[in-house]
Amino acid sequence: MPKITYGGQSFECGEQSVLECLTAQGVSVPHSCGSGVCQTCKMQAVQGTVPVAAQAGLKPTLAAQNYFLACVCHPQEDIEIALPEQKIARIEAKISGIEYLNAEILGIRLKPAQPFSYRAGQFINFYKDEATSRCYSLASVPALDHDLLLNVRKMPGGHVSGWIAESLRAGDTVNISEASGDCFYVPGYAAQDILLIGTGSGLAPLYGIIRDALANGHTGRIKLYHGNYSAAGFYLVDELRKLERNHPNFTYVPCVSEQGAQAGYEQGMVHDVALRDNPSLSGWRVFLCGHSEMVKAAKRESYLSGAAIKDIYADPF
Ligand SMILES: Cc1cc2nc3c(=O)[nH]c(=O)nc-3n(C[C@H](O)[C@H](O)[C@H](O)COP(=O)(O)OP(=O)(O)OC[C@H]3O[C@@H](n4cnc5c(N)ncnc54)[C@H](O)[C@@H]3O)c2cc1C
Repeated sequence: MPKITYGGQSFECGEQSVLECLTAQGVSVPHSCGSGVCQTCKMQAVQGTVPVAAQAGLKPTLAAQNYFLACVCHPQEDIEIALPEQKIARIEAKISGIEYLNAEILGIRLKPAQPFSYRAGQFINFYKDEATSRCYSLASVPALDHDLLLNVRKMPGGHVSGWIAESLRAGDTVNISEASGDCFYVPGYAAQDILLIGTGSGLAPLYGIIRDALANGHTGRIKLYHGNYSAAGFYLVDELRKLERNHPNFTYVPCVSEQGAQAGYEQGMVHDVALRDNPSLSGWRVFLCGHSEMVKAAKRESYLSGAAIKDIYADPF
């Protein structure tokens, strides 16, 4: 059974990932998504080779230096590992506003203490303490918004979202990371049709991407499908309806998955509705954010409906 050596101690990993193994031994490793997306748990192998799958999504320059993602690393041989020497830069940000957008979702405004470069739809790490952080997507658009905007769903029993909801107030200072991720709008191909599918707070990055595309003069159709279990889950509805009135190429389709038709809402799983309405996605750009099962299914079905893999951007959470 492969062993991992960290900080002079060796542990047997068994079926666990490196992250699970170290955490079970009381070693504190910064982590967040647990599924190889956010790259918070990046570590470096100083002896031995990690499986290629543990480097998926890393820049080739990092992979070449034996960096890997601990949450998806299942070693096949003995390895010695270390945390990256260079820590991710932390940036202070002041909370300039915090309010509920519906019963569960908090809208948070942040003013970073230094110039902050990002693309609408990317995500930041939001730190509760030295070792605990979670990713939140940016709903703001650099050219349109003074502050960074987040939509945080308060999860029952959630360490970070619960702390944000219960403890943080306007005027507090928090630590965030630089923005990362590739789920954002790239200007060009202005006539390309764009399909966006999100569930719950997965609307946050999509709201940024849509406004960014419109501000860049995108002329192709931009179709947003937002899914929630019930009508109570929707938010930013007035803002989205206003965008629809001002931009004839933008449409907003709210979908509820609970049984029983409700006026004004499509009924069904959001990706089923979106793919039923748009059966041919050849030449489209597709953005998928939110519930990981939805994102997984929508990615597969978008591809089968003709969207090129290079045109599908996804953030599962
Ligand atoms: C790229 C990316 C972007 C994201 N963007 C957003 C966003 O814009 N908005 C947003 O709201 N979220 C977003 N997320 C999700 C976010 O990062 C967090 O995962 C989410 O807020 C939950 O974190 P938490 O600390 O509150 O909950 P956690 O403490 O991580 O818990 C999650 C759930 O698991 C349960 N749980 C925890 N521990 C246990 C246990 N031992 N046994 C059983 N159940 C347990 C909790 O009760 C809770 O319901 C994003 C994630 C990624 C990867």
